Amino acid sequence: MRQPIAPPACIGFIGLGVMGRPMARNLMDAGYRLMIFNRSQEVVSRLVAEGAVEARDLAHMAQQCEAIITMLPDTAAVESVMAGPDGLIANAHPMTLLIDMSTISPKMTLRLRELARARACRLLDAPVTGGQQGAIDATLSIMVGGEQEDLDRARPLFDTMGKTVTLCGPAGHGQLAKACNQIAVAIIIEGVAEALAFAKVVGLPQDIMVNLLKSGLAQSRVLDLRGDRMAAHEFTPGFKARLHRKDLAIVRELMNEQGIDLPATIIVEQMFDRLFERGQGDLDHTAILTVLEGQA
Ligand code: NAD
Repeated sequence: MRQPIAPPACIGFIGLGVMGRPMARNLMDAGYRLMIFNRSQEVVSRLVAEGAVEARDLAHMAQQCEAIITMLPDTAAVESVMAGPDGLIANAHPMTLLIDMSTISPKMTLRLRELARARACRLLDAPVTGGQQGAIDATLSIMVGGEQEDLDRARPLFDTMGKTVTLCGPAGHGQLAKACNQIAVAIIIEGVAEALAFAKVVGLPQDIMVNLLKSGLAQSRVLDLRGDRMAAHEFTPGFKARLHRKDLAIVRELMNEQGIDLPATIIVEQMFDRLFERGQGDLDHTAILTVLEGQA
């Protein structure tokens, strides 16, 4: 049986954006040796100055690291680093544990699991919820798909980045759980945004309304973390609208496959489309408030 991956093991980390950077930082603080790779170089230089090592390329990382975490924007980005002749899977050794913490299509997870099996290396899907603040505070909720044995190995890494770790089922089930989560978050944001857009139209100050909502039955983490900023129309991400739109496209594909209708989810997807058409896909997802206000 393989041992849990404890410091000072070498951990690879790919995707050092809003979420990945603080997650990587927490691993370094816990004593792991970090090897990093990212498309934009600025964040790589900063983390190297703080003690991380930059991988020459993906093959170098796959050969050096016991576990490699990906925290990339979407399905295509994860496929590009994992699959392919120069990618992680082709160059991994049997001890390598690949942990994809990005939110991607569960179908791709299953494909990558098959490729990994053929190389005798292991793969977990482990998307997260809790947002940027959860990544900074190491309080993420981590939804795992895969084998218990691999989760046991990855557990010390997850405990360094998050507070709640749930094995949701076999490969792909972490992504399925994340899809459910994104449905709920989308509709909660839409609910708060509709309340605030309506408040504005009827002449109620939005900041007062946010405080009222926080203290009643409508209270939510969305309101606690984002309510004040929504009232102030401060939409620096956080969670980019285009990433939430990507997640709802995954949900839509699953909906079609399963033959289930989720009407409110589709409405929120349309809100994200409108934001995107206005060239505002890189704003925080709560900016759908401005779409609703634009109608008034
Ligand atoms: P981000 O856009 O801030 O960061 C992505 C990083 O990946 C960037 O640094 C980019 O340079 C890098 N990158 C992109 N393609 C690459 C490639 N091919 N090779 C190497 N590096 C590459 O995104 P984020 O907000 O950190 O989100 C990352 C993932 O986590 C997404 O799947 C998102 O859906 C999910 N997520 C985000 C949040 C959030 O609140 N931001 C919360 C939970 C889950």
